[in-house]
Order: sequence, then C-alpha cells, then structure tokens
Amino acid sequence: MKSVDYDYDVAVIGGGPGGYVAALRAAQLGLRTALVEQADLGGICLNWGCIPTKALLRSADVLRLIRSADRYGVAVGAPVADLSAMVARSRKVASELQRGVAYLLKKNGVEVIHARASLGGAGSVRLENVPDSAHARSFQAAHVILATGARARVLPGLDPDPGSVWYYREALSPGFLPPRMVVIGAGAIGVEFASFYHALGVQVHIVEMADRVLPPEDEEISRHVAAALSKQGMELHLGARMIGSQRAGGVWRIQLQGGVRTLEAEVVLVAAGIVGNHEDLGLERTAVRVERSHVVTDALGATHEPGVYAIGDLAGAPWLAHKASHEAVACVEAIAGGEPHPLDVMRIPACTYSHPQVAHVGLTEAQARARGRAVRVGRFPFTANGKAIALGDTEGFVKVVMDAESGELLGAHMVGAEVTEMIQGYAVAMGLEATEEDLMQTVFPHPTQSEAMHEAVLSAYERALHL
Ligand SMILES: Cc1cc2nc3c(=O)[nH]c(=O)nc-3n(C[C@H](O)[C@H](O)[C@H](O)COP(=O)(O)OP(=O)(O)OC[C@H]3O[C@@H](n4cnc5c(N)ncnc54)[C@H](O)[C@@H]3O)c2cc1C
Repeated sequence: MKSVDYDYDVAVIGGGPGGYVAALRAAQLGLRTALVEQADLGGICLNWGCIPTKALLRSADVLRLIRSADRYGVAVGAPVADLSAMVARSRKVASELQRGVAYLLKKNGVEVIHARASLGGAGSVRLENVPDSAHARSFQAAHVILATGARARVLPGLDPDPGSVWYYREALSPGFLPPRMVVIGAGAIGVEFASFYHALGVQVHIVEMADRVLPPEDEEISRHVAAALSKQGMELHLGARMIGSQRAGGVWRIQLQGGVRTLEAEVVLVAAGIVGNHEDLGLERTAVRVERSHVVTDALGATHEPGVYAIGDLAGAPWLAHKASHEAVACVEAIAGGEPHPLDVMRIPACTYSHPQVAHVGLTEAQARARGRAVRVGRFPFTANGKAIALGDTEGFVKVVMDAESGELLGAHMVGAEVTEMIQGYAVAMGLEATEEDLMQTVFPHPTQSEAMHEAVLSAYERALHL
C-alpha cells in the first residue's frame, strides 16, 4: 500500500506501548514509518508506569522477605530500606528498557523524530520543538496513528507538588519518605503505591469513593484484598468522598464526606483516574470525535476522519499497556490491508501488583449473573496448595466462573503471590474457548501454584481433590 505522494506511509504520534509497537509492526510490514515522541520512548508504561512501579514493588517484596527470613531458617540482621537506592534502581530499569525500544525501532528502520506533533489536517503532521534543525517542520503521511496516551486526573486544590501532593510521577521519584500518607483512589495504581509505601513504614490511609477496593475486580477478590490491607495495618475509608483539603504547618487535612472524619498526612497521593491527551493535537482540523477525553474509534482504531486512527489510552479503557500494544498491531495490520481480529475486551487480562497480587480475565461472577448466565463457581485456596505452603505464602485463592450450561470459562479471578504470572493460563484457555472438560484434562505440573487453577475448575463441579 506504499504511496509515493507521501513522506511516510504511516506516522505514529506518541512512543508508548501503543505507538512504538504500531511503528515496529508497520516497519515489519514494509511500510515507510515515522514515530514522533515528545519525551521518552516507551511512554508512561516504561518510564512512569508499569515498569518503574514494578521495580519499586520488587524492592518492597525483598524487604518483606528479609524481614521474615527467620521463618525460613535464615538469620539476618534487621534490613535497612534505602529509598533513594530503590528509586535509583527503578529509574535505571526504566532507562535500560527505553534504550531497548530505541534500538528496536532503529533496527526495524523506523524514523524516530524527537518533537511534539499535531495534525495540520488528515495526512499532515506538524512538528514543534524539533531539536534537530535538519528536520522539516511538517510532513505528509498516508495514515496517522494517534497514540498520545493519558495523564493523571488532577483533583481541584491538589496540584502536583513534589513536597506534598504526589501523582504517579512524584510517587515514582520521591525525595523523601513521609511519616503519613493519604492515598486517594483504590484502583490498581493507588493500591500498588499504598503497598510500596506501607512496606517502607509509611502510615497509609486509603480513601475510595466506591464501597470496595479495586472496584473492577470480582467482589470476593476486593473483599479479600481489603481485609489483607487492613490486616497489614493500612486504614481503609471506603464509600468515602473527599470534600475538602487544607494544608497548614506541613500537614494536609483531608475531609471526608459528612465531616465524619478528617485525615491528616504529610503527603497526599492522588490516583483518582486518568484523562486522555487529546488537546493540542489539531483534532479540530479533522472530523475526529472526542468523548469524555477519549478519541472515538471503531474496533480497529479508525476515527471519524479517514486516514486518522487512535489507539491505547487515548482511545479509552481499559487503560493497560498490553491493550495499547494489541490495538496497535490490529490497527496497523488493517492499514496494511490485512484482516486482523479486533481485540475482545473481555479477554484482556488485568493485573495489580499490590501485596497480595491480584489478576483477572473475563467476567466477574456478578457480571456473568447480570448477563443472565447460569453459572457454576469454583474456588481453591492457596492454603491447600503444596507449592504455596512450601514457599511460606499461602494467602489468597483462585476463583473461576463457568457457564453452567456450556461449560465455557466466563471469568477467572485470583489473589495471592505471583498470580499475575498465572492468569495468562486462563487467558489462553478463554481464547481457545476451552470448556470445563478441557481444563480438567489439562495436566498442571506439580508442585506449582498453578495447580490451584486446576483445582478451582474441579471445585466448580464438586470434583476438587485437595479441598
Ligand atoms: C503508575 C502507573 C502504573 C501502571 N501500571 C501498569 C501495569 O502494571 N500494567 C499495565 O498494563 N498498565 C499499567 N499502567 C498503564 C499503562 O502505563 C498505560 O496503559 C500505557 O502506557 C498506555 O500506552 P499508550 O501508548 O497508549 O500511551 P503512553 O504510554 O501514555 O504513551 C504516550 C506517549 O505519547 C507522547 N506524546 C503525547 N503527546 C504527544 C505529542 N503531541 N507529540 C509527540 N508525542 C506525544 C508522550 O510523551 C508519551 O510518551 C500504569 C500506569 C501508571 C500511571
């Protein structure tokens, strides 16, 4: 589909897991491809999201393990947590991966332009802040993919401030460890940061408007996580709306609805949603539609303007890196004339790397019932799993929601150690439309925590062996 009238066949704006994967795939397919990134390759995910948070959470895990070393017959002194060393490691991990993305793009022949881009109209890309004077200030591309991502929603009265109001960027590069912290929002990001800072000794309050933590999760999972966080010593304020905030003498006073409770803390960490980066992209010069800060697209990323596409966080929920990358590949393959399968949102696994970890794919039990499905539910606790007992970490369980009539796996939900590494087994099963018979006949290696996945399916049919 190469066109000689354009400078590029495909131009991608934004180099996150949506944009850089789109550029790589386009180049693989032989399309002349440019990628414009205004900040760091890898986007939020590599630089300020998925990866650096997991690096910090790894430090917290190591700390917890060393603190419990005597349970394993290992005597060590009291560990000392060095926040700045943890942050330095996390930043190093991010920059290492960033260099990897740059290498891949170069190797595949993608032209990377470090600049800010906007649309001059369909097919026309304008550049600002171009450091390299050799670069033109605009170019033409047959297809333009918008992958500009999203940013944290800033709450009124709580502007980002490294000294006292942290959004994810500040929370990932803290200059100090506050004695007390109020985390606003108990979604995945809020709960992950709460887990990290609590492990380091910060007194943590979590405020959440919904009546449970991790609201998109199955209710049983939310209940388990809430109990676990409370048991660890965090204070949860659920069904609570912040109605006021004042700071005096270096201390924030956060009022919760009804004036029932005022929380005090040196730092407020806000994780209360995100908004799409759709401004200043020149969309007004196109027919692209924006609804609730996200660009409206069809299942393969096409917007209302022919030749302009949007993928990843900019195109709406779920705000996950792997969703962005999959949309990228499908979008580019469609541009190249292929017939890719659109992404099935129900089959996108989602993970939270809190302590304990949480993972799910598919429908919750309540969602399945609300859709009129007759369900069989199976559960298996890690307290009955040999590997978990040997590891000394038996917290949590696996839950499956099966269609009572067809035996189809409708949803799978897990909480416990390293469940984020296990959920993919169920995602593959769902993708292959596995039934209960297929799952029961699958051989799971022993001893592994994954045996709990087998037993959960067996338990849905009253056949669990180790309960
Ligand atoms: C703290 C945190 C933890 C997270 N953890 C996870 C996780 O564990 N797993 C997961 O799946 N997801 C996680 N996410 C979400 C994940 O980071 C996003 O879903 C993902 O980064 C979206 O990818 P994207 O390519 O759409 O956008 P982004 O990664 O946001 O990339 C957009 C890029 O576009 C660039 N850009 C914007 N405007 C312009 C312009 N005009 N010109 C040029 N460049 C521009 C930006 O600089 C940026 O680099 C996390 C997010 C946060 C904040």
